[in-house]
Amino acid sequence: MTIGVALFGATGSIGESTLSVIDAHPERFHLEVVSAHRSIETLVRIIERFQPKHVILTDQSEANALLEQLPKEFNGSLAFGEHSLAEAASASEVDVVMAAIVGGAGLVSTYAAVRAGKRVCVANKEALVMGGELMMAEARANGAILLPIDSEHNAMFQCLPESYTVGQSIPGLKQLVLTCSGGPFREWSINAMTDATPDEAVAHPNWSMGRKISVDSATLMNKGLELIEATHLFHVPETSVDVVIHPESTVHSLVEFVDGSMLAQLGSPDMRIPIAHALGFPERLDINVERVSLTKLSKLHFEPVNHAMFPALALARQASAEGGDRPIVLNAANEIAVDAFLKQQIGFTEITELVFDCLNQSARQPISSIDDVLAVDKMSRQTAEIWIMERV
Ligand code: NAD
Ligand code: MG
Repeated sequence: MTIGVALFGATGSIGESTLSVIDAHPERFHLEVVSAHRSIETLVRIIERFQPKHVILTDQSEANALLEQLPKEFNGSLAFGEHSLAEAASASEVDVVMAAIVGGAGLVSTYAAVRAGKRVCVANKEALVMGGELMMAEARANGAILLPIDSEHNAMFQCLPESYTVGQSIPGLKQLVLTCSGGPFREWSINAMTDATPDEAVAHPNWSMGRKISVDSATLMNKGLELIEATHLFHVPETSVDVVIHPESTVHSLVEFVDGSMLAQLGSPDMRIPIAHALGFPERLDINVERVSLTKLSKLHFEPVNHAMFPALALARQASAEGGDRPIVLNAANEIAVDAFLKQQIGFTEITELVFDCLNQSARQPISSIDDVLAVDKMSRQTAEIWIMERV
């Protein structure tokens, strides 16, 4: 019997890397469920190649569009909507859920997979930023195993003993060290960055990723989201997470222990490595990726973050320290701002300005359920949209 994978966000960058790992190991995995938002043509190719049993689109019009192009051999089911994702996440044929939808749109399905006690490979960091505390509590209550896909968190996890369960505190921990490439604008001036175009912002020096996370990597908000993600996955306060710029993206992160030891994980910047690690865990899967050549590397650089150039990271750290609804507001405002930047409605440096203003404008709301999370998310998106309307 092979492992049944539900791949949410199959048509994206993480989706593609996940399919490549599954394709390399048909003796071990089969695709039970795939989901996508649009990209019908990509989805048709995936269905032809992998013959998933269930296909889920975001809305009915996309499902209808797919229906017209469905390969004849497909004899599975076609559904749409968030409730279908949540249902699929808890189906008994699904052993592993790869949560690879981008942004807050992935929250409900990731949460459903955790509540169903599945093995959940978490790429969708925004879900953890928004609902991390609730998610970790549900994981504990339902025996879900969370495995980090984000390369930094996966690196940290690889530096911990095999007996370690995500969500527990780490014995003997001094601090976690998140590495950050610095993004495409690391060496730019503030003036040049103000006029940066979407194409310049998504041109990441080392990684090839979806557009939203690429812009987040350029503002360093990605590192801010990852800092919050780390606090939940590894049960630490934000003060135990340091961030260091490492332009080569070879050391994917480090764990420092109280005895002065530091453990690191190295690899080429290829998401198939953390994906294969999580899908195979605790076994190692043989995959065809570029290997690190230590002699070719010769030098690795590490430097502090320039907070004056990249204020997003400090904003996220503060949101993490304050907790409650702050990370939800931060994430929602950022999603709207990145979208507006990609549509050329606001400038690059306005992304972080918008997030800052939304955090300052919103009154704090208590958070005790996923409905509370969704309500704050919705309200913050509206505040951000008003900010943009007043600006343009
Ligand atoms: P992407 O934009 O390439 O793909 C996103 C996927 O989500 C697509 O399949 C799309 O159809 C689906 N989607 C988009 N909007 C949706 C909606 N409203 N409802 C349902 N589905 C929707 O993004 P990506 O780069 O693959 O990133 C996915 C997640 O993984 C993000 O949370 C990102 O932060 C995280 N991540 C990505 C990388 C990477 O290398 N790409 C690395 C670490 C973490
Ligand atoms: Mg990352």
